[in-house]
Amino acid sequence: MKRVRVKHGAYKKYAILRDGYVIPLDADTFESALTAAEVGAPIPLSEVEFLSPVERPNKILGIGVNYAAHAAESVSFVDTKKPEVQKWFNKQATAINDPYADVHLPKVSEQLDYEGELVVVIGKRGRHVPRERAMEIVAGVTIGCDYSVRDWQRASQTMIMGKGFDTHAPIGPAIVSLDEIDDLSALEVRSYVNGEQRQSGHIRDLIHDIPAQIAHLTAAFTLEPGDLIFTGTPAGVGAGFTPPKWLKAGDRVRVEIDGLGYIENQIVTEPGRTVLG
Ligand code: ZN
Repeated sequence: MKRVRVKHGAYKKYAILRDGYVIPLDADTFESALTAAEVGAPIPLSEVEFLSPVERPNKILGIGVNYAAHAAESVSFVDTKKPEVQKWFNKQATAINDPYADVHLPKVSEQLDYEGELVVVIGKRGRHVPRERAMEIVAGVTIGCDYSVRDWQRASQTMIMGKGFDTHAPIGPAIVSLDEIDDLSALEVRSYVNGEQRQSGHIRDLIHDIPAQIAHLTAAFTLEPGDLIFTGTPAGVGAGFTPPKWLKAGDRVRVEIDGLGYIENQIVTEPGRTVLG
């Protein structure tokens, strides 16, 4: 099953993607969409715009340095000493963004970087979930880009300020259930900037695999439907080049994973307006 959220005319709907059509669900939230009935006529893809398949996750979690080659290239900008312990950070819930929407180049930094990743979407509550049962709480997987503002990330050990800027967590286009994926470990994550390939890596090369991630996270807290786990990025981020290849306004960043499609976002200068209420 491929779960999506789309804009159709004036309406935003949770839906199922099937045979080139979108079938709306009788649901207002991601959690209710997991068990909702189909309602209404199938809508041709040409009439919809894809939105983030979870509207507002309660948590967006990301793991740092989870591919060996990325750990090696990251020595200059994060503490990469022996990632034997999983290193987690949060992206803020307000960072969520649509799969083809604009991403902000911050007003306060020129060090915007991309991290193409497989994203796990939680479908059931889980606490103290052993690794052998971890996939039971997964609704499916999707594509994400963990945009990172490197100077703000480096400024504190928690990394949180550099990871949570608005628009910096685009995901989608669909949450693909695990029964539709032959071999999750064989999936390859690739990212491109203006058509030039920058990253590639296979899920089998994760230092801490997905069951280990879920077991570790749920040892501390409850994962809930709609929570997102950014599972780590392969080598080839902009910070790994000499000199670094930071993103600039007008750049187009594409992340693709076989069988899941792609997301593509244009970098735009952050509006930088004061918002009060
Ligand atoms: Zn990341």
